[in-house]
Amino acid sequence: MTTKAGRRVKVTGDYFHGQVPDGAVYVGRAAPGLPASPYRNPYRVKVHGLEPALMLYLHHLVNTPGLVAAAADELTGRDLADWCPVPGPGQVDRCHGALLLTVLGPPVPAPDTCQWCGVEERTHYLRSTSVGSHAWTAPTQRLIRERMLIRRAQTLKGRS
Ligand SMILES: [Zn+2]
Ligand SMILES: [Zn+2]
Repeated sequence: MTTKAGRRVKVTGDYFHGQVPDGAVYVGRAAPGLPASPYRNPYRVKVHGLEPALMLYLHHLVNTPGLVAAAADELTGRDLADWCPVPGPGQVDRCHGALLLTVLGPPVPAPDTCQWCGVEERTHYLRSTSVGSHAWTAPTQRLIRERMLIRRAQTLKGRS
């Protein structure tokens, strides 16, 4: 596939005058100036907490027929805009839009592979990669569950 990967971008302006950067697709909830996206996270961080809200979003993708397939059609290669600040280099983007980009991207590693690079323990050795030189590191329980759900969501991409 030659499609370029989309990035996660931030809506500019305040809540009442949100503006989606050129070329990006808004994936957030309804706001005074922006219609609700079908790809919004129905689970609010304020109600559930950040990590549970993200996990619930992945369940929502897996359990809503056609949603992932529609996202694959409409959003692949597009930048996704939400209100969450975009983190700096080396920081992890914990926005549902970032999870959606991961679902739309290349297959994620098997759940029980290295936390940093997704390589199996027995073939890992000491690797220098884009994430730096590191020893094999067990994934957290959260990451294992997240990878499982993302992999399930990725199997739904072709099913409109
Ligand atoms: Zn967000
Ligand atoms: Zn690794």
